[in-house]
Amino acid sequence: MRVRMTVLFVALFAGWIWLDARAQSGAPLVSGAHRFEKVTDGVYYATASGTMNVGSNSPVILTDDEALVIDSEITPAAGRALVADLKAVTPKPVRYVVDSHYHYDHSHGNQVFTPTAQVIGHDNTRRRMLTNVLEQFTYLNSVQPIPARVEALKQRIAQEKDPQQKATLERQVANSLAYLEQVKETIVTPPNLTFDKAMTLHRGGREIRILYLGRGHTDTDVVVYLPKERIVCTGDLMESIVSYMGDSYPEEWIATLEKLKAIDFDTVMPGHGVVFKGKSKIDAFQNYLRDVITQVAALRKQGLSAEAAAPKVDVTKYASELPSIRGVGIDVAAVRRIYQLADHPE
Ligand SMILES: [Zn+2]
Repeated sequence: MRVRMTVLFVALFAGWIWLDARAQSGAPLVSGAHRFEKVTDGVYYATASGTMNVGSNSPVILTDDEALVIDSEITPAAGRALVADLKAVTPKPVRYVVDSHYHYDHSHGNQVFTPTAQVIGHDNTRRRMLTNVLEQFTYLNSVQPIPARVEALKQRIAQEKDPQQKATLERQVANSLAYLEQVKETIVTPPNLTFDKAMTLHRGGREIRILYLGRGHTDTDVVVYLPKERIVCTGDLMESIVSYMGDSYPEEWIATLEKLKAIDFDTVMPGHGVVFKGKSKIDAFQNYLRDVITQVAALRKQGLSAEAAAPKVDVTKYASELPSIRGVGIDVAAVRRIYQLADHPE
């Protein structure tokens, strides 16, 4: 018996060293629906591996005893996959989740975590998630366009000659159809530990500050700041690409980003896109917001509808810093939001 236990222990230990070596090597570790990029010791950036729709990217912070995950992802299935896939990185349990904000693609996995973890968020995140978010545009726009999009993808698949490209498109169809099934399980679950301005977790050697800097992408955005590691996790308040504006407060967003820049950090782990360094991208996004506000105001003054104005807004000069910009025109939801705030200031 003892020999068998020793063999088992050695095998487990060897497996652990091997996994650890993979995680240390710099190449991202692919585990199930996620890939984990090591940002510094005990800090990982979880992104989609492509096998399912997970929604947001999730920073993972390990302490002596547990894991803290920022954003529970887009569905309970994605949240469960995150828990399972994390086992390739750490045996530590997830005891804290931080909702960077209330949007579905960051928080609809919450129900997987609440039985065993504290889910932390801003007071407004809880308030928002207690409303009918499943009937609001931002969420509905993630499900309602799928059937038409799948049809379009199927037509492209039929014409595609390159087998690799074909496989990619087929995976997109499968992931989209699976998402329509996975959302049926969602029970919108607000954070169970909320705050207004700031809170700090002291866990082992780690200091984890969670800060509300003001309204921006939504009125619920919090950032997670690791002062010692000089890392800030920004959710959708600051992405490496253009952030969705459909629920935003564009003017205040610029001021809130100024407060973000005042924090002493080197590395940003955003809610979408890639990890990036420094503050020049934040400058660029502030200028982008100023430019969008100015151009949309002018188009509104000319009497254009939001639908007519959106394709005319030209922000291509920011494409090098915000690589999701691929041509003239912006998301109509951004223009509708600016029009709405002009008519009914909040
Ligand atoms: Zn968002």
